[in-house]
Amino acid sequence: MTLPWMQAPRERLENALVRKRLGHAPLICGPAGLGKLALAEWLLARLLCLAPAGEAPCGQCRSCQLLASGGHPDSFRVGIPEDKKEIPVDSVRQLISSLQLTPSVGPHRVGLVEPAEAMNRNAANALLKTLEEPAANAWLILVSHQPGQLPATIRSRCQKIVIRPPEADAAATWLTDRHPDLPAADRARALALAAGAPLAASRLLEGQGLEHGQRILDDLLQVAAGGPVSAAAGEDWFARPDLTWHWLSVWVAAFMHQAEGLSGNALPEQLALPDPIGSDRLVLLWEQAIAGRQMADSAVRHDLLMGKWLLEWARSFPTGQ
Ligand SMILES: [Zn+2]
Repeated sequence: MTLPWMQAPRERLENALVRKRLGHAPLICGPAGLGKLALAEWLLARLLCLAPAGEAPCGQCRSCQLLASGGHPDSFRVGIPEDKKEIPVDSVRQLISSLQLTPSVGPHRVGLVEPAEAMNRNAANALLKTLEEPAANAWLILVSHQPGQLPATIRSRCQKIVIRPPEADAAATWLTDRHPDLPAADRARALALAAGAPLAASRLLEGQGLEHGQRILDDLLQVAAGGPVSAAAGEDWFARPDLTWHWLSVWVAAFMHQAEGLSGNALPEQLALPDPIGSDRLVLLWEQAIAGRQMADSAVRHDLLMGKWLLEWARSFPTGQ
């Protein structure tokens, strides 16, 4: 997948590398849904490649082949473990000790942490020590959707590479190439919902029933602002219970990300809830939506279940019934 708006940042990184002006810890940051991870992967491959040609990893050398096979001994990735909500200190400690070993293939070892803001406090502290005394021959790439959530001490020791959303025209053109068969109105709506981030918009379009999803979101926001529950869930909610539960889980997950200061999900800032809801409550509502979706094909009364869910949602706000 080519991301034209990443061409300029790639060239900037390549220039910095060639002039030996790239610090040992680049921090690639910007809103979610722009392809920052793809840029980080490119940089990792570029740093490990034994015969980089121009701005591209060669794809032929032993290093590139090992990377392609997924088993490069000098490449280390750290993310949120599947059963956790944050990056634990153990993952970071393991990364640090791995980076200190002598490279096996080429001259460098490279670590990649994504999303960096998900490191818990201990993990961030452990990483800070490495940033203060970097291992020789080691690079550490950080990717962050919310660099403001990182400790200032970490930010100040990284070289910030800021990625911005492309111009509206460029984003629309890219999205049209990806989803040529969808109505233009859907593409525009998805881009608006994703605050101009093309990959996030594309993910919204790959999901089903964008229009339905928009209506569900409008209803949720109205109830959150004190609107009556009875006016929210109409016939259209019950006509496709699978879709409704799907979108309920999507939006609650987005609000969860927002409550935690992450922006890994497509939710424009102007759609913030009138009052913050506790994470515990959001997790509960999210689990109920997932459970509802799993029962979508069974003969349960989805109208009753959704009514109950929506009451719970309403009661999460001070104005709620
Ligand atoms: Zn190569």
